[in-house]
Amino acid sequence: MYYAAPVAMLIDELAKLPGIGPKSAQRLAFYLLKVSPGEAGRLVNAIVDVKEKIGFCGVCFNITEGDVCELCQDFNRDDSLLCVVEEPRDIIALEKAGNFKGRYHVLGGAISPIEGIGPGDLKIKELLNRLKDGKIKEIVIATNPNIEGEATAMYIAKLVKPLEIRVTRIASGLPVGGDLEYADEVTLGKALEGRREM
Ligand SMILES: [Zn+2]
Repeated sequence: MYYAAPVAMLIDELAKLPGIGPKSAQRLAFYLLKVSPGEAGRLVNAIVDVKEKIGFCGVCFNITEGDVCELCQDFNRDDSLLCVVEEPRDIIALEKAGNFKGRYHVLGGAISPIEGIGPGDLKIKELLNRLKDGKIKEIVIATNPNIEGEATAMYIAKLVKPLEIRVTRIASGLPVGGDLEYADEVTLGKALEGRREM
C-alpha cells in the first residue's frame, strides 16, 4: 500500500476510464488532490448532472436531455433516409461532416462474439420497428470499418433487404480497423457520398 485508502480508490476509479492507464490515473489523482474544493465540486457535479439529466432518445437511442432528441424533432430532416451508427458519438462525427440530412438510429455497439455481444444486445429489433411504416426508403449503415462493424452491417443488411428498402454502406477510404469518431470531417463526408449498395 503506497497510498492512503481514499487516494488508492480515486486512482482505481480513474484507471477505469477509457484511454487512462495506471500512470495517467495516478497523475490525475494527484492533480485533483491539489485543486480547490470548489473546482473538485464542479467536476463531481458535472458527472452527477449528466447521469441524472441525460438519457436515451426513445426513437433513435441518441443521448438526450428530454424524451426525444433534437435530431428526431427536427422537421427539416429527410424522413426517408436513416443512418445506422454504433454509438451516439458517431452521430456527432457525421453531423460535423455536415452532408447527411436524414435521421439516425444508434445500435449501442456492434456484434462481437469475443465480447459476448450478440444481435439481441443491440437496438436491432427497434430498428426493424422503425422500418414498419414504410417511410424509410434507404438505410445507410455507418458502423465502424472494423471486423465487428462489418459483421453488424452484414447482419442488418440481410434483415432489411427483404423489406425492399435500399441498404447502403458508407464507402471505404475510412481507415480500416479504425473508429468513425476519429475520421476527419472531409473523409467522413466523402465516405457518405460514396456509399455503396449492400
Ligand atoms: Zn432521437
